[in-house]
Amino acid sequence: MAEKNKRRCSFCGRGENEVALLMTGMTGYICNDCVEQAHSILREEALLPKSDFDMKELPKPKEIKAFLDEYVIGQDEAKCALAVSVYNHYKRLMQRGAADDVEIEKSNIIMVGSTGTGKTLLARTIARLLKVPFTIVDATVLTEAGYVGEDIESILTRLLQVADYNVEEAERGIVFIDEIDKIARKSDNPSITRDVSGEGVQQGLLKLLEGSIVNVPPQGGRKHPEQKMIPVNTKHILFICGGAFDGIEKKIAQRMNTHVVGYDSVQNSHNIDKADMMRYITPQDLRSFGLIPEIVGRLPILTSLRPLDRVALRNILTEPKNSIIKQYVRLMEMDGVKLTFEDAALEYIVDMAIEYKLGARGLRSIVETIMMEKMFEIPSAGVKSCRISKEYARKQVEKSVALA
Ligand code: ADP
Repeated sequence: MAEKNKRRCSFCGRGENEVALLMTGMTGYICNDCVEQAHSILREEALLPKSDFDMKELPKPKEIKAFLDEYVIGQDEAKCALAVSVYNHYKRLMQRGAADDVEIEKSNIIMVGSTGTGKTLLARTIARLLKVPFTIVDATVLTEAGYVGEDIESILTRLLQVADYNVEEAERGIVFIDEIDKIARKSDNPSITRDVSGEGVQQGLLKLLEGSIVNVPPQGGRKHPEQKMIPVNTKHILFICGGAFDGIEKKIAQRMNTHVVGYDSVQNSHNIDKADMMRYITPQDLRSFGLIPEIVGRLPILTSLRPLDRVALRNILTEPKNSIIKQYVRLMEMDGVKLTFEDAALEYIVDMAIEYKLGARGLRSIVETIMMEKMFEIPSAGVKSCRISKEYARKQVEKSVALA
């Protein structure tokens, strides 16, 4: 009967309903499991290319930077460092497994810059063109084993998840660790107070950065004690770290034997830009801030982001491909309404962002406040256009401040 006509895998003999997928050939069938098995045999026999990258197809550092330029304003130094590191990461992966006596070592990066200057945005943007698994993790949730919070291995759980639990894929991925400064040692003398998120976490992280085989809980956390750990080799995983390192300017200034006088940009006779001490950062400053020397040594590319000035903030409003203003224009377009902002209104938004000391982060919430009423009314107002003047913007902002 039906059993007789059932289609079976010509290799393992299992029936159609016992496998996830059965592919049909000229004279037989093959199931998904047998395809995978055949693939691993090929790999073992080295019949498959070691890397599926084609040098010609890889975006060059300049192309990567040009892509970042579409979304992120300024920060050229950090963009170049990122572009080169990612490009070299691909090259290193191509070398993997090949007989080459010049082994290219990986160069993890650390990006330092005040909050809201675009570190996370850079990481998110570069992720769009990466050809390897990528994840962003926040170092603030990391604690030493035994404390509440996540173990260091959880960083790799996320990477495994993005790679669909394909270990080999995950092992060539890139991890962005945000807020790395939060795991700095709080006091210079570690023996006085043993901070939960301090040296122990750094030691754990060091293990990952150095390259070792780490047992990763596939579901993360400790909620699933029964889960079977997956060993992941971190040797080829590229780590990009970012942090605000609040107060590091003082340490840089101390080292440079000068003093930071607030944030005014008075230049002294040596032409030191006191408004942007961050640009003079060296690995030594990271150590004085509380990162252990071994970690600093494993993050050989140190780059800093510039503070955003008026011009940069104004550009951020309108220039990036998906700038805040462009997003609102598109929202209104969907209602058939043409939205425009007077220049003076845009300048006013920048003024407010500076006044609230929110940097680029503030721009969105200010525009949001200004647009809320219009967003509510316009869809049923039957109008074709909407122009935001400075007066209107100010009225809306002041109204919301009055309410707060
Ligand atoms: P950080 O990680 O440095 O604290 P983010 O990258 O999260 O800052 O920036 C917050 C928001 O500010 C971003 O989502 C983006 O809208 C805006 N922003 C910050 N810096 C830039 C920049 N250089 N170019 C464009 N937008 C920026």
